[in-house]
Formats: sequence, C-alpha cells, structure tokens
Amino acid sequence: MRHVPERYSRQAIFHGIGLAGQEKIGQSRVAVIGVGALGTVIANNLARAGVGHIRLIDRDFVELSNLQRQTLFNEEDVRNNLPKAVAAVEHLKNVNSEIVLEAVTSDLNASNAEMLLADIDLVMDGTDNYETRFLLNDVCLKKNIPWIHGAVLGSYGLTTNIIPGKTSCYRCFMPEIPEMGTGGTCSSTGVLNMITGIISCYASTEALKILMDSPDIRKSAIFIDVWDNSFNSIELPINPDCPACNKKEYHYLDSRRNTYTTVLCGQNAVQIVPGQVRKMDFADVVERLSHLGEFQYNSFILRLKIGQVEITLFTDGRAIIKNIENENKAKALYTEYFGL
Ligand SMILES: [Zn+2]
Repeated sequence: MRHVPERYSRQAIFHGIGLAGQEKIGQSRVAVIGVGALGTVIANNLARAGVGHIRLIDRDFVELSNLQRQTLFNEEDVRNNLPKAVAAVEHLKNVNSEIVLEAVTSDLNASNAEMLLADIDLVMDGTDNYETRFLLNDVCLKKNIPWIHGAVLGSYGLTTNIIPGKTSCYRCFMPEIPEMGTGGTCSSTGVLNMITGIISCYASTEALKILMDSPDIRKSAIFIDVWDNSFNSIELPINPDCPACNKKEYHYLDSRRNTYTTVLCGQNAVQIVPGQVRKMDFADVVERLSHLGEFQYNSFILRLKIGQVEITLFTDGRAIIKNIENENKAKALYTEYFGL
C-alpha cells in the first residue's frame, strides 16, 4: 500500500485530492510570474501544498511599502536590498526543503518568455501590468500551458482560469492593452491585503485542481469586493474572432525587442532592459563611477543615489531608475553611466 507523507497528510486525506492527487501535485512544475501581493501568497500556498518544482520570476527588489501585503517578506529583506524572487525562495526553503525552488530575477519579456516557461505545467499570474499578461497569454497559448489570471486593486479583485483549447483566453475579453491612465494603480488607488490574499487563495485552489486534472476546475471568472461584500461568478465566452486563441496571432510574443524601457506600476520609476543580457561587474562599476556618489551593493543588486535619483542595477544589466522625469531621461542616464 502506498504511504501518505506526514507533511501532506491533512491535504491528501481531503476528498478532492487523495493520495493520487497529492502525487500529481508533487510531480508538477509551476511558474509564478511576479512575486508581489498575489505571487507571495500563491508561492507560499503552493510550496506548502507540495508542488514539486516552483520557479519564481520577478524583476523587482523588496521595499518597505511592500510589507503591508507581500506576506513572504520582512524588514530584514528590505535592509538587505534583496530581489523579491531571491528573498521569497530563501523564506520558502525553510518551509519546504523537499521541493525545488528556483529564483529568477529578470523581466519576463518576448525574448526570454518561451525559454523560461518551456518546461512548466502551469503559470500563475502575479503581475501588475497589462504588457506582461498579454505576453503570458500569447506564450501560454502557443505552448499549450494553462495559466491562472489574477488582478487586484483597492478592495476589488478578479481571477479566472485560462486553459488553451478549453476556455476563453485573456484577449477574448481584453482584446487590446487599455490606454495609459484609464485605470488606477496600487499607488494611486491603494490596495487591501485581504483582497490580495483572497484572490491568491482562489487562484491557488484552482492551481491544485488543474495540476491534478480534477473534474472540479472552475469554469467561471469570479469578481469579489471585500469592502462592498459583492461576489459575482460569470462565465466568460470564447470570442470567435479572438486574434490570439482563434487566429493564433501572437502579437505580443512576436514583437521581440531591442533595448526597451517600461514605467513601473505606481512607483515613479522606469525600468531599462538592455537588448542583450549583460554581465555586470559591480566592483568595476563602483571603481569607474566612484566620483558620482554613494554606492551600496550585494551579489544581486547595486544601488547608486545621485540627488533625488536612485539607480538600482541588476547583474544582468537591467536597471530600475526612481524619481526620474521620463523614460528618455532614464535611458540617457543609463547610457551615460553604463553604456548600451
Ligand atoms: Zn481568445
């Protein structure tokens, strides 16, 4: 007779999972894209539930304003300037040392998405921006990988399962990226940690069902407001004219780019991603630019403050520049200090 591992005994005994379901969960590979308010809760749930291999992909580092809702992080992570993916893996290793946990500190983009998700069974959306979700939709359709969309703002959140060939895709109900400024952001509207927790827990539950190929996989999208106490469950129809799932036009995946910049959600910050991955030698950068001001660095990031402007450089050459007026100024500053 097969033995239920002690660690998972309370979960494997649950009627919807069972020993066979637990074994499937243990053999699964999940990528969490964005390790923030949603991603930390999802990663925590899935690591404890015994998902065998979890790849955490995030482009950012831990800051004080994250601690209100990004439940894997603490003040020491802020003091140590740790990238979110690295800090999350360090904490989760102490929770479950029997699974594989991978940290990828990178911007998921059209050049690396297929490679980073090639061996993955399920993708969890912990992102905070439309660009990455449209890209995820393309790559998951192309590679036939299910993904679970989640989004939260204020006291409101929604989540839906997107299973290629079975459900509507993201572009069936969101045909194009909305105009800039048409929606709020976490910094302009705020966000409650209760709704991020709730949406993440619904998404994590569906994750287990999808990994087990359960007959109970939810077919509807759910919309919840914890302040107004509203709950709606709506089946989103497949759009027969959808360019992505119907016509297989993967516009966001096919737009492979050179060096590009993005304004980060609600941070007054610009991210610069060089067209080619670079290998930055922080000691060399400090020596070359020591006249500019104060440097701090560890094995993952280098931080430089020049007046109000704060530059965070990652080892792959990516940079996040805070308190800068616009993307052009950020790119000019990057080119001046680090070359392109
Ligand atoms: Zn579609």
